[in-house]
Amino acid sequence: MPLAIRSIGVHLVRLRTAEGLKTSIHDVITEQEYVLTRLKLSDGSEGFGEAPEATFITGETASSMIEAIERHLAPAVVGRDPFDLAGAHLAMDRALAAGNSAAKSAVDLAIYDALGKHLGQPVSRVLGGAPRGPIASSKAIGTGPLKEMVASARRQIAAGFGTVKIKTGADSTAELAAVKAIRAAGGPGLNIKLDANQGWTLPEALRFLDRARQFDIQMVEQPLAAADLKGHAELRRRIAIPVMLDESIHGPGDALRAIEAGACDYINIKLLKAGGLFPAQEVATVCAAGGVACQIGSLSTSIGTAAAIHLVHARPIMKFAEVNWPARLASDVGTGFSLVKGRADVAPTPGLGIKVDTRLLRGGRS
Ligand SMILES: [Mg+2]
Repeated sequence: MPLAIRSIGVHLVRLRTAEGLKTSIHDVITEQEYVLTRLKLSDGSEGFGEAPEATFITGETASSMIEAIERHLAPAVVGRDPFDLAGAHLAMDRALAAGNSAAKSAVDLAIYDALGKHLGQPVSRVLGGAPRGPIASSKAIGTGPLKEMVASARRQIAAGFGTVKIKTGADSTAELAAVKAIRAAGGPGLNIKLDANQGWTLPEALRFLDRARQFDIQMVEQPLAAADLKGHAELRRRIAIPVMLDESIHGPGDALRAIEAGACDYINIKLLKAGGLFPAQEVATVCAAGGVACQIGSLSTSIGTAAAIHLVHARPIMKFAEVNWPARLASDVGTGFSLVKGRADVAPTPGLGIKVDTRLLRGGRS
């Protein structure tokens, strides 16, 4: 009998953060809901996927993801050949046409994890790459009172992070003072990125960045509204700081339009926006063709963050990574992810490399 996807179960896991994060678009995250998928192949191989509830990015709630997977996505892929990721995504896109990218990502990741276990190979190899060891990760500093922002940066620098990302777009006075103080604390060797999460208008961005540029800013992420490609192109013509787009870019078409519009120097890929590892590779390919280097970002538990690391190991265009989220959690869903001195890695075992604590799934739905 040919190998087939036999079943997909869905579980809701609610985890507290030990270290919250506030941005211009949402308040401090202290607790987050994650949707875990548990997929079985006909040979008994089992894979886990995951997606965080990030309503401010994809508009999906944990409940809507569970509904999407149980009623639409699981029936579309159960019975299919797990090697046929292209077919699985076509079937998912037929079942639920637009959006629902986080739900699709949770299914996609579970298929890759199961495939890797079936083959006895880490997912980076399944993707055409190989395990390459720890990768440097940046870490975000939430916007807030100046003192807290600087204290948070000092902790990160002491923990070994070579790149900090300062969240901006909420309170320019405190944020500018924080940029200055963090540059002084970190010295010239520290990489400083900014991320406004769409918080500025074009004149506000110009005003802030004109003052911030003396502090050697590596790049600014998503300064303007997601839909405003023209504004980002204009901003790039008027400032010397490179622009990275995040919320503007979900799928490969978004990346193509942004590159054609001259709206970005870099693109931030997140699996929950792209719809999983398969479509994220299509985004990466468009970026590589357009000469735009990528970052991988993650708001996931160790399952989704491990998947992000495998993508970096498989695609040389993924030059930057922000894959520290599991370290912000008070508890995680499994073991295998590591973050040492600002460098993240995953166990080179078959699949995504995460040993999931299945006790977490007892109370869930499957
Ligand atoms: Mg961002």
